Amino acid sequence: MTTNKTPRIAIIGAGPAGLTLARILQTRSIATTVFERESHPDERPQGGSLDLHPEAGQLAVHLAGLDEQFRAVARYEDQGMRLLAKQGQILLENRPDQETGDRPEVDRTELRAILLDSLDTGVVRWGWDLRSVRQAHDKTYELLFEHGLSETFDLVVGADGAWSRVRPLLSSATPAYAGVTYIQFGLDDVDQQHPELALLVGHGSMFALADDKGLIAQRNGHGHIRVYAALRVPETWVSASGFDAGHPEMARTWLLDQFSDWDQSLLALIQESNDRFEVRSLYMLPVGHTWDFRAGVTLLGDAAHLMSPFGGEGVNLAMLDAVDLACALSNHQNLDDAVRSYEQTMFPRAQTAARGADQGLRMAIAPDAATSVPAFFRQQMSSGPV
Ligand SMILES: Cc1cc2nc3c(=O)[nH]c(=O)nc-3n(C[C@H](O)[C@H](O)[C@H](O)COP(=O)(O)OP(=O)(O)OC[C@H]3O[C@@H](n4cnc5c(N)ncnc54)[C@H](O)[C@@H]3O)c2cc1C
Repeated sequence: MTTNKTPRIAIIGAGPAGLTLARILQTRSIATTVFERESHPDERPQGGSLDLHPEAGQLAVHLAGLDEQFRAVARYEDQGMRLLAKQGQILLENRPDQETGDRPEVDRTELRAILLDSLDTGVVRWGWDLRSVRQAHDKTYELLFEHGLSETFDLVVGADGAWSRVRPLLSSATPAYAGVTYIQFGLDDVDQQHPELALLVGHGSMFALADDKGLIAQRNGHGHIRVYAALRVPETWVSASGFDAGHPEMARTWLLDQFSDWDQSLLALIQESNDRFEVRSLYMLPVGHTWDFRAGVTLLGDAAHLMSPFGGEGVNLAMLDAVDLACALSNHQNLDDAVRSYEQTMFPRAQTAARGADQGLRMAIAPDAATSVPAFFRQQMSSGPV
């Protein structure tokens, strides 16, 4: 980017999108400030395992100059996928190995750590929770934070996830409930403590889908398995029907009740779980969400195109957005051209992925999922890796 004065760039959110953008720009000598509302990097667990695709997440890692660091934490051995019937038998299995599989898994916490370690000291400001953004007369933007401080920037990049506080500057869209609620729980030290469940889930992800429900289990690093019990229910149904994440025994009993006619091998995921339960309703922005160009503001990742996780694309899109915006900012003469160019590339890509994620969720948590999902994957596998 060549301008008369160095533009001040603020990135809101130290998730995969914001940190990838900051890192790639840093390698191109473009300074940014990342504002993150969490008070420190370990304030909350960062979530499960993510598979990075070669043309998206892995490309971003490469442009960030972090190939070696990524290889050190990536799990090439965990790229498997299996579908089970609710009666417990395997319907379909895909087991790419280290040679054929090109979508290694990485724990979100470890991905965030390598990105954070690569940034210069002081780039990320922890405990800065954006409250609102105000445009000044000179077309700059004043960021107002919950602790009362404010700062002014030339470009504000909203990488602040589903409930973005930057998005209202560009769009009136808000996330809508996607019709499915996840109840998340996990099992620790599975190879030693739960060897049969380690075998059931395998090295990768396991899906058992039927009757508008699902048990989805995912091998994470450090011997952990993360499980989502998925239910197609109205938005407030889970809490209204008595589920209480704070009482693990009651939570387990409640869940076993929901899956009472499922095979014992699958129910063991619930019976042997640890005590950390969490309710996660799924939300999505409208498929094809866009906005009119506005100088000095843009969005990346979930802030721009929140979608259900059933496309398996969320983090890959977030990191690819960061690649495209970073390249645009380093290649264009001014901020406006860079932002326009980035948005024109990102909008159609996000629309395609959001449509796929929407269809995936409708198909997977559905009355006939036990037959439609295996048929879909068989067709996919015959035309290439899934
Ligand atoms: C249950 C579930 C499972 C998923 N599984 C997968 C998967 O297997 N594969 C996949 O690719 N994707 C998956 N996703 C999606 C993926 O997690 C997201 O697409 C991805 O994290 C988006 O990254 P992001 O950086 O845009 O946003 P986020 O990861 O949400 O990061 C946003 C950051 O902004 C910060 N922030 C928010 N508000 C403010 C504020 N006001 N001020 C300052 N900071 C703020 C947040 O604290 C956070 O650090 C899943 C999502 C869910 C809900």
